[in-house]
Amino acid sequence: MGELAYRGSQVYHSIYAERRFDLANFSNLPAAFRKRLAEAAAIELPRAVRRHVSMDGTVRYVLGLSASSHGQKPTTIETVFMPEENRQTICISSQAGCAVDCQFCLTATLGLVRNLTAGEIIGQVLVALDDNAGALKPQTNIVLMGQGEPLLNYEPVMAATRILLDPGALAISPKHATLSTSGILPGIERMAHEKVRPKLAISLNASTNEQRSQIMPINKKYPLEALIETCARYPLRPWEHITFEYVLLGGFNDSAEDARRVARLVANLRAKVNLIPWNPGDLPYHKPDAERIEEFRRTLTDKGVRAFVRYSRGQDVMAACGQLALLENAASIA
Ligand code: SAH
Ligand code: SF4
Repeated sequence: MGELAYRGSQVYHSIYAERRFDLANFSNLPAAFRKRLAEAAAIELPRAVRRHVSMDGTVRYVLGLSASSHGQKPTTIETVFMPEENRQTICISSQAGCAVDCQFCLTATLGLVRNLTAGEIIGQVLVALDDNAGALKPQTNIVLMGQGEPLLNYEPVMAATRILLDPGALAISPKHATLSTSGILPGIERMAHEKVRPKLAISLNASTNEQRSQIMPINKKYPLEALIETCARYPLRPWEHITFEYVLLGGFNDSAEDARRVARLVANLRAKVNLIPWNPGDLPYHKPDAERIEEFRRTLTDKGVRAFVRYSRGQDVMAACGQLALLENAASIA
């Protein structure tokens, strides 16, 4: 627009550091430029179509995404805000729906609707922060664990990550941002070379290839040995470890033998295991028994593997892991 270059930085700072979304409030810009900018551009955030508040304080947002300038079709996605005592965690989507087809996950039933743009990915964080502006704690954690497989929408996810982690923008610490993948090996290898990147979490979910292929068809393409080998080569930063998520499906993958096999799989990695008791949906699986959960964790711990049980929040409003599958009628939000 023929303005001095630092005007660009000012706009960037106003949007991402100060979270101002109305050009009229960009007080650091001269009025004449503000007016020209408003004629040429608009700041558009995902629109909250629905807001479900859980008994535990978790908020599940159904956000409407419009057609956008990228020629994308309108759709909805889900974003989850989880307040805690000293921090908040925001779980964001990387795609509308998902093509990976894990059998225990409700998002899979949507299929892939479309990839999100970088703006739509950051927009979820901005909406969640803005909506809770009065009650924000000093620390914000971001988890790319909503709808979609982030490593199958690589460029927009990394572009969004760079802005989220930029100290001059949203300033999320790289220690507080985690990307979870079903194990897309080329994506993991690519991420290893990124200068700015979130922590890595892998959805393991099974202890043998046969078992994993049954519930995660992606395992036929990227089987366990290759997955573990890729993790072993992954260049961890000094403070970093890889998190393995393991959804406990009652009677399917929750035996002590499974736990011993998981311990062997991760034995040579700097790793931690998060056990996630399955959250029900209209799918043919069962919640694990409480004793099985504890025995599984203890078996891992006894073998020297750091393991934690993670009960998902927001189950009463379908905000928990694997429950994000709401597709509003796209026409109604266009
Ligand atoms: N697509 C990525 C990011 C989503 S993260 C991935 O799969 O890793 C969602 C996490 O929730 C994954 O670890 C997944 O295995 C887990 N999950 C899916 N459905 C679940 C369910 N019904 N109960 C508990 N966890 C589930
Ligand atoms: Fe997709 Fe992750 Fe659900 Fe699998 S678990 S279908 S990869 S969102």
